[in-house]
Amino acid sequence: MPKTAKSLPAIDPQYLTDFLVRLLNTPSPTGMAEPAIAMVEQELSEYKELSLSRTRKGALVAAWNVESDAPPAALTAHVDTLGAMVKAIKPNGRLQITRIGGLMLNAVETEGCQVFTSNGKQVRGSLLSNTASAHVFGAKAVETKRDEENMEIRLDAVTGSAAETEALGVRVGDYVAFDPRVEVTNGFIRSRHLDDKACVAVLVAAIRALKKAGLSPSRSVIFHFSNYEEVGHGAAAGIPPGVHELVTVDMAAVGPGQESDEFHATICLKDSGGPYHHGLSNKLREIAETYGIPYKTDIYPYYGSDGEAFWHAGGNVAVALIGPGIDASHNYERTHVDSLAATTKWVLGYLMDS
Ligand SMILES: [Zn+2]
Repeated sequence: MPKTAKSLPAIDPQYLTDFLVRLLNTPSPTGMAEPAIAMVEQELSEYKELSLSRTRKGALVAAWNVESDAPPAALTAHVDTLGAMVKAIKPNGRLQITRIGGLMLNAVETEGCQVFTSNGKQVRGSLLSNTASAHVFGAKAVETKRDEENMEIRLDAVTGSAAETEALGVRVGDYVAFDPRVEVTNGFIRSRHLDDKACVAVLVAAIRALKKAGLSPSRSVIFHFSNYEEVGHGAAAGIPPGVHELVTVDMAAVGPGQESDEFHATICLKDSGGPYHHGLSNKLREIAETYGIPYKTDIYPYYGSDGEAFWHAGGNVAVALIGPGIDASHNYERTHVDSLAATTKWVLGYLMDS
């Protein structure tokens, strides 16, 4: 007998998309994710059921405590993104960078960027190959390897020397955030950094949907908004010891050979860190079946998650990983609102049924 799909609180895809676009437009490279953490904190501050706090490392923890005999659960998603830092101020006044996280320089070639100076100013610029001009370098403009040595930030300020760039307030160690270039068309959201801001928006939209329906989670839940995931240790701290289950909400890898797509949610059963927790993964699949949530199962070949970071830090919990399909990850990414809605429903089902 097929199960009749149980119903979930209504989600608001427009709200989800609007919040996501605002979050995408808030720069938050790993190490300087505070503006995005503050934005999520502000958004959640209207829900009196949530008690909000920051870890000493700067992550946001939102606890929704309810009366229940069941041990608390946690969900995590990360606001930090790929980015860069100024490595050197070159004699020509341009900037050499060092990458933050798994940034691929070919994916940000010619992208606009913001340099955040240590004196609180912002300087605009763009990342180019240092053999950028076709009329000056000919074939070399194409052949140059796109790496840290061969690329530079050209500042939109009058400078032709290291001294003039320093006079702008720029110093070695300043953060660089690349423009996300967000566009929403026919339900597709195209932007950098959907990994993992899409899932942060999913958690916020799920909390809102539950509240609007006048419901509460079936047991106490910790929402952990991580700020150091892209460098591998985001959720290593900040999950309270009483938590028994951790659902990591992060992007699903879309591409040839993958099951994931931009219209379903995916549960990842194994990635570079090995298998996820069998029992918790099965529970999530049952929830998806119960509520008729469109989902795929998948394996990610080059991938590690914040749930695994907590495991490596000694976290004694069951860990599972679900998320929306993101095409061209760590590149100019894209997903569809259907995938975000499916993931939000899955989170709601977990909050209500687990
Ligand atoms: Zn991620």
